[in-house]
Parts: sequence; structure tokens; C-alpha cells
Amino acid sequence: MTIARVIVDVPSIGTDKEFDYFIPEKWQDMVQPGMRVAVPFGPRTIQGFVIGLKEKTDVQQLKTISRLLDITPVLNSELLRLGEWIAEQTLSFKVSVFHAMLPAAMKAKYDKVIRKTNRSAQLSLDGLFNGKDEIHWKDAEKSNLLPALHKEISEGNVEVVYIVKDRAQTKKMKKVEPAVSKDGLLSAAEDLPKNAVNQKRLLHYIHDAQEKSFESKDLSLRAKVPRQTISALVKKGILSEKNEEVYRDPYKHKSFKRTNPLPLTEEQQRAMDPILESIKTNSHKTYMLYGVTGSGKTEIYLQSIHEVIKKGKEAIVLVPEIALTPQMVERFKGRFGSDVAVLHSRLSIGEQYDEWRKIQKKEVKVVVGARSAVFAPFENLGIIIIDEEHETSYKQEEIPRYHARDVAVERAKFHQCPVVLGSATPSLESFARAQKGIYQLLTLSKRMNEKSLPDVSIVDMREEMRSGNRSMFSKELFEKLKNRLAKREQTVLFLNRRGHSTFLMCRDCGFVMQCPHCDITLTFHRYSNEMKCHYCGFHTEVPQICPECGSSHIRYFGTGTQKVEEELSKLLPEARVVRMDVDTTGRKGAHERLLDHFQSGKADILLGTQMIAKGLDFPNITLVGVLSADTMLHLPDFRAAEKTFQLLTQVSGRAGRHELSGEVVIQTYSPEHYSIQLAGKQDYDRFYRREMAMRKLGSYPPFYYLALITVQHADLMKVVAVTEKISAYIQSKISDAAILLGPVASPIPRINDRYRYQCLIKYKREPSLFPALNKVLEHYQGKLSRNGLSISIDVNPYMMI
Ligand code: ADP
Ligand code: ZN
Ligand code: ZN
Repeated sequence: MTIARVIVDVPSIGTDKEFDYFIPEKWQDMVQPGMRVAVPFGPRTIQGFVIGLKEKTDVQQLKTISRLLDITPVLNSELLRLGEWIAEQTLSFKVSVFHAMLPAAMKAKYDKVIRKTNRSAQLSLDGLFNGKDEIHWKDAEKSNLLPALHKEISEGNVEVVYIVKDRAQTKKMKKVEPAVSKDGLLSAAEDLPKNAVNQKRLLHYIHDAQEKSFESKDLSLRAKVPRQTISALVKKGILSEKNEEVYRDPYKHKSFKRTNPLPLTEEQQRAMDPILESIKTNSHKTYMLYGVTGSGKTEIYLQSIHEVIKKGKEAIVLVPEIALTPQMVERFKGRFGSDVAVLHSRLSIGEQYDEWRKIQKKEVKVVVGARSAVFAPFENLGIIIIDEEHETSYKQEEIPRYHARDVAVERAKFHQCPVVLGSATPSLESFARAQKGIYQLLTLSKRMNEKSLPDVSIVDMREEMRSGNRSMFSKELFEKLKNRLAKREQTVLFLNRRGHSTFLMCRDCGFVMQCPHCDITLTFHRYSNEMKCHYCGFHTEVPQICPECGSSHIRYFGTGTQKVEEELSKLLPEARVVRMDVDTTGRKGAHERLLDHFQSGKADILLGTQMIAKGLDFPNITLVGVLSADTMLHLPDFRAAEKTFQLLTQVSGRAGRHELSGEVVIQTYSPEHYSIQLAGKQDYDRFYRREMAMRKLGSYPPFYYLALITVQHADLMKVVAVTEKISAYIQSKISDAAILLGPVASPIPRINDRYRYQCLIKYKREPSLFPALNKVLEHYQGKLSRNGLSISIDVNPYMMI
């Protein structure tokens, strides 16, 4: 084949199609679909993905591929096809989807160089080029010769060239091996002059060592010789040195204790049998594995994967990013050892790339990872497992806005293998599908060891206020806290969202400090003593007097994790507290360190946000306190009740998982709300029925699908006008069975000085909706995006703001 069909790395509506490029003869046998190439595009050279090959084209002046960026495909044919499907489903550009499927290291970086085209020309730039034919743009920029450069460019004597740089680099390490036999080493040592003490010592060391190959650096340390000694012996031909590729392994220093499959309980066996049947018969089916925390779901995952591996196939396990704790990783590494690759965003770009390559090179059988691990380039998938399937982090919030669950099912159809969705609190969408028989429901009703669920008490904080308790701890929670401290048992204190309600308010006039760029309250950060906006990053000093009325009675309200920590140190100075939130876990490895610290018993109280809600399984936790259960309940989001229920159930599940039984205290200002009541009883089934009734009333999922169009611009009038036009257009294209809400201002009406309006479409079957949405994107992205107008369309949105 002589022509490549290429998707270029320019995410825009005009370029979201294939372009044809000629393949130079020398590469004609090499280029395959799924490889990255560098191609000329307008004045630049950019990266592109080959999606196919052909013999003929209608293009008149065919351009030629400039460089190959891969020698083997990075996307196989299944993933290429999947990418196109995702692009259609999520109204995204193909190139954006391809990037989402690959490790970040493969995103192209462009280098800009200045190159002479006409060597004989009289150049006014000799000082700059200094005899070279090509210099880096950065050097040119720094010089004072830019005007001269500009002139030479316009005369065609020099040109600006964009070079595609591949950041995907492997790490090499110097390895040393003996180049002679064992005896040869000894005789070589004999032959050395007397004073070559180091060389002799090194040779003896290598002779006596167990291994045959050494890391240079390591060897010089162990044999206590300088690096030059090694080089000297390499020169003499007694040792040989070569560069070998090594993986950057984030788990290198951890050893994992091998575990064996446990004999399953009868209930577990019953739940696993249908999954094994699908594996055996190579058939696709989606299972909803519904079981409370601690009911043995993970053991079922492990044993199902075992069957898959025995068949020579591969497995993908998705876990929420924040649940990818060392504990979770340990369970998979412990069972499958070096057959496991781990992918999450806390790894460095290099580490991510190396883990990905282990998968691509078929050196592992199992990948455990966050959302994007669903794209693991396995070719022989035998199962896809999604743990905590209700987690909203499985939906990507940037382009491409895909949901990992949908992608998993699509891949599993291709590979004819099962998908297992596990949860103690399934999403309404999934559970409704299980009720309808689209998914097969598998239930685990009992906790392992017949441990009963913890006792939950719901405390009405309004009552506490009325009885004069102004502390953030109710009497009940405080008593129990003291009791655990005395018994040396551990407590988890959970606060919804980081510093959520710590805002500044004037007690005289009620002034609340807002971000000047967004319509959102600024958050008070005590350690940096600043007011910060969590949406645009704006920060400012804390005012001493009210900017509105000049009163000095301005003070902060609410409870952030920092404030709770302070109050704890006042009330219970002897308590050792570990605080986990976005601020304390920012640095790499901090998350693990804090958890290790708590697990090893060096702290009494683990205080944190969302990130401590899941995955923790520590035997000594006997008390869980939820400080404010309802902060999430009042968000403008139809899933608010569902999220509250899930979170409270999850947090409660942290207590009493082992020998010691547990207690949970939930503090709330809305104790009568069904999501709090039913979370207290851990009654998912009733919650499901209740919430389904609400969704039906409001025409929300799972009864309707949603598409959310958001329009942003700095000019409010323009935003309103465009949103109105879009709404009218969409309305004219959909049937009476669909519902269109809007245009209305978004729940956060302004972010970063840009106004936001939206319109929401609720629909069931609407064949002309997607073409219409595509028309909207085409129209506005093509013409108006340069005017600063942006339109985003989120199909099945999870963020309603
Ligand atoms: P889940 O994933 O539902 O939270 P796990 O699989 O983590 O539940 O199981 C909870 C605990 O019970 C774990 O400590 C696990 O090792 C143990 N366990 C699971 N299955 C069995 C079994 N069949 N026999 C004994 N212990 C088990
Ligand atoms: Zn005031
Ligand atoms: Zn802001």
C-alpha cells in the first residue's frame, strides 16, 4: 500500500477527518494502522495517527509522511475502531479519543527550530547561526536578531521547522557482565600489575558473586571500587558493558506476600458460577455483583481472574482513583505477582508509560487501574471488572467525556467476555438494568464471618444547637471519641469535601466574600492565611474589616478539615491525628505514607475528606464519625441524594470490619431526609425504590437520557442569545416525547469571568438529536470559537454545574 489515511493532531471540527499521505517507498512495508507518524500540515509538521492504508486517492497534491514515530502500532485495530465509536457517542474529536487511550508520554511535543534553506545566501544572521545550519527557536528568541530573522524568513533564506518530539522514552541502565569465563576472571586478576588493587578486588568480587549481570552503579558500590575501575576492565575486554532497558517500577521496593484462593462460601460460589460459565464459553454478559462492603466481592474478582489467566487470557480491573491504595494493589499483586501492572495518575509520566508497555509487550496478564486503564492494549481480554461501579469518577469530565462502564461493555462485546460491575450501592442506572434483566444480578447478602453491620446513630445537630452545644462535635460523638482513645482503638472522622464551608462572613451586614471572577464563595485557608477560589485559583488576603460596611466583626464560618484538626487538638490534646485531604496528599507518595502511619497504629484518629471513604480495611477502626452528612445533599444535582446515600453507606462500612465491632455516628441538619435515614439502616433496596420514584417524577435517568449543552462567553448578552438560538434549533429537531429545559443560567453562572448558560435535553429515543447536536458543534466551533465563545455538550453528564 502506498497511501496512509491519517487523523492529524489538531482537535477541531475542520480537521476531524482523515487526510491522505503518501508513504515513501522505504517505509511502504512498515507503515501499519495504529502507528503514529509525523506529517506536514499547513506550515507545520505535526503528529498523526494512521488509521488505515489504501492504494488510490482523489487528493491532487499528495503530501508525504515525514517521519515514523513508532515501529509497531500503538493502537490495535480493536482500539482504533473503539476510538471512532467513542468519538461518535461522546461527540468528541477522534484525535482526542486516541490520546485519551494512550499514556500521556505519547502526547506529541513540538520543537521549533530555524533552519537555513539557502546556504550560499548572504546572511545577516551569521552571529546567530554560528556556522551551524540549524538552531533552536529558543536561542533565536533570546537574541536581538528577531527583525533580521523575520526578513530572512520572508525572503525564504531560512525557514521555521516544527519537529515532533516523542516524549515516550524508555529508561536505560548500564549493565556489566564478565566477558570471559569464571576462571578467566581469576587468571586476569593474576595477570594484573600488583598495584592494580581495585581492579583485582572487582574481579574477585564478580567471581564470587551469585549473579552474572550487574548494574554498574550498584556494582561499584558493592565491590567498593570507583566507576573508572569498571571502565578500565571493560577497555581491556575482561568485562563488557551495555545499555539495557529497565522499567521504572513504582512498586520496586515493596514486596507482596503471596496469597492463595480462599475456599468460597456457598453464597460466593453461587455468585461466581455464572461468571465462570461466561469465561468458559467465551460469551459476553454484564453482571451486577451487588454486595455490602466486606461480603467478599474482591475474592470473587480474584478467582474469576485466575480462571481467565488459566485460559491464557487477560483481565482489566478498574478501581476508583482514590481507592487505588497500596492495600488494594497488594491484594492483586499478592495473588498474581509480577503478572500485574498498575496504572493511575499518581505515577510519574515515565512510570505510567512503562506500565503501559508491559501490557503492550504482553509481559503482564492483569492491569489494575483507574478509569483510563479500560484502554489497556490487551488483545485477548477474558474479563473486565469495575469495582465500586457507582463512582462518578468513571466518567471523564474533560473531552472526550466517556464513561468507563460504557467503554468496558463495548470492549467486552468485541472480546466476547464478561463484565462484572461490583458495588454495595449500585448506581441507579446499573441497578435498574439489572432489574430489567439487561445485566444479570448476582447478590452477596452477608458479610464475611457473619459480622453484623455497624450500629449507626443519626444525630440531629439542630437539637445540639438548641441544647447549647456549639461545638462541631455532638455530645454523643465526643463521648465515643474519648472512649476509643481510652481503649486505644482507632476512629475515622469524615468531613464532606475539602474546606467546603469555610467562608468569611460579616456578622453585621451579612457580607460573604466572593470570587471576583466566578460566582462562587471564596474559601478560607488557614495555613496560608488566604482566601482561595476553588474554580479559577484566584487568591487574596484575608480582610481585617468588612469590605462592604467597614465592620471588624468579620470572621470565618463552617468546618474545614483544618479547623476540625485545630478543634481536636484543643479538646483532645492527647489524640494523635492524621489529616488527609487534597492539601496534605498533594505530594507523591504522601497518600501512602499517611495511611501507613495510621495503619501501623501511630495515630488514633484519621480525619479526612472523600478520599478516606473507600478502600480502607483496618482491623482497629471501631468508630466512624460523619461530621456533616448533608453538605452534599443540597447541591443542584439530581444525583445529590444518591451520592449522599452512597457516601454515607461507604463511610459507615469502614467500621468494625474485623473482630471488633463498630459504631457509626452521623451528624446532620436534615435527619429526616430519606437518603440519610436509609443510609443509617444500610437499606439500599428501599433507597433504590424511593429514589426511582423521585427520578420518575423528575424525568431523570434512568428513565430518561440527558444531554447538557453549556455555552460560555465573557459577554452575558451574547451567551443568552446563543443559548436561545441553540435551544430553539434543538427544539425544532426533537419529538414531543423529549423535554428541553432552558436556556437558563448554569448553577455556577460565571467562572473565570465567563458567563455560563445551559440547556438540558431529556430524551428516550431521539434519532435526530445527535445529528442536530453535531450541527450545533460544527456551526459554532467552526465559525465562532475565535470570538471566545465556547460550547460544550456533555452526553449523560455527571457534573450538573
Ligand atoms: P468486598 O470486596 O466485598 O469488600 P472482600 O473480598 O474484601 O469483600 O472480603 C472481605 C474480607 O473477607 C477480606 O478480608 C477477605 O480476605 C475475606 N474473605 C473473602 N472471601 C473469603 C472466604 N471465602 N473465606 C474467608 N475469608 C474471606
Ligand atoms: Zn459588613
Ligand atoms: Zn474564581
